[in-house]
Amino acid sequence: MTIASAALSRASEVRTVRECPTCGLFQTVPALAPHTGSTCRRCGTLLRQHRTDPARRALALVITALLLFTLAATQPFLSLDLGAGRNTTLLGGPEALEQSGLAPMAFVVLATTLLAPALRLGMIFWVLLRLHLRRPRQALPHHLRTLFRWAEALSDWSMIEVFLLGVFVAYAKLIDLAPVHVGLAAYALGAMMLMMAAADATLDHEVIWDELVPRPQLARAIPPARRIACEGCGRITDHEGACGCCGAQVQRRKRHSLSESWALLIAAALLYIPANTMPILTVIQLGQGLPSTILEGVVELADSGLWPLAALVFTASILVPVLKLLGLAYLLITTGRRSRRHLAVRTRIYRIVEAVGRWSMIDVFMISILTALVQMGALATVIPGPGALSFCAVVLLTMVAAQRFDPRLMWDALDHHDPSAATRSPKVTS
Ligand SMILES: [Zn+2]
Ligand SMILES: [Zn+2]
Repeated sequence: MTIASAALSRASEVRTVRECPTCGLFQTVPALAPHTGSTCRRCGTLLRQHRTDPARRALALVITALLLFTLAATQPFLSLDLGAGRNTTLLGGPEALEQSGLAPMAFVVLATTLLAPALRLGMIFWVLLRLHLRRPRQALPHHLRTLFRWAEALSDWSMIEVFLLGVFVAYAKLIDLAPVHVGLAAYALGAMMLMMAAADATLDHEVIWDELVPRPQLARAIPPARRIACEGCGRITDHEGACGCCGAQVQRRKRHSLSESWALLIAAALLYIPANTMPILTVIQLGQGLPSTILEGVVELADSGLWPLAALVFTASILVPVLKLLGLAYLLITTGRRSRRHLAVRTRIYRIVEAVGRWSMIDVFMISILTALVQMGALATVIPGPGALSFCAVVLLTMVAAQRFDPRLMWDALDHHDPSAATRSPKVTS
């Protein structure tokens, strides 16, 4: 074990003051024994998990993921044996959408399946490599902090696992049309997804921040009432403005959180109507074809006997967006009224809304894959419809609305009535 990695494995054995990102309660997280974690005393959010090897294993996993991604990005993941035969790579979908006049949707697919995963992997790789190769007492360059902060910000927008489900749905829709072959890239993407999940599970962000910017022993000197935590790196300071550690903008609460969330939510609710009433795609077979909406697509899957897939698309494309719109509206109304009721339930709703948002992109990816593959003139052609663009906008707007909502505002209503809350210590679980 090198000097750097010995210091890294010791770093999670230190007491730190942390703000719970969900309820805003400041609490002292104790030194953690191996295989234990520390959860917020008040709302149950995981504050810290002990990791035995916080950086080295992640580096190995990230390198493997990068190699697999290079393979996945250059090889076809589906090919169709019909007429001249066609295959598609990760770039094929965005290209076909752009040619169909849906440039904004093409960009979203390109950004979430190629740019965000590649940038995120590359940034984490570079930061971990520099940490690994660092000599004792060697200062690390400043840009590593920016890269590591961006890598964290990109994690919501890297959607390989959702894309793989989109490939699966596209495959099921195509086998009726012609023989389909699953290419090497699909397997590489699957393996890469597992590597990334494993890397995320072993990587300890707090330890990496402590290595990039040694922690000043200030946190406990700041009086509890003046503590503000940085959302980027978790460090505690006593003033708003640029974070001295990671450079993110430190704010006690997200500014204009409720009004911005409302604006995004209302825009999403309005676009939900064309997203469901206008056709998302038209399949033309032997010169004939009818445009179909999201619901008609689900019925089609069910009619072909693909019930599990129909249920999956119905859940991801119809149920999840409605539940997200209603859930967010409920959170915004109760928080706006400073309600102190059902805080645990509201916190759970917030977590669910945040976690499920990205899965609605399945249909968007499926449309991009079908458009790229099925371009065989009068024999069979898929044309994306305007409903697809609206639907894509609904998914993105609700995702950003959930990100702009500051869950700590829900719990602020309680703090006015319970001043002792600020002095509690978290629960340690194993
Ligand atoms: Zn909490
Ligand atoms: Zn910071």
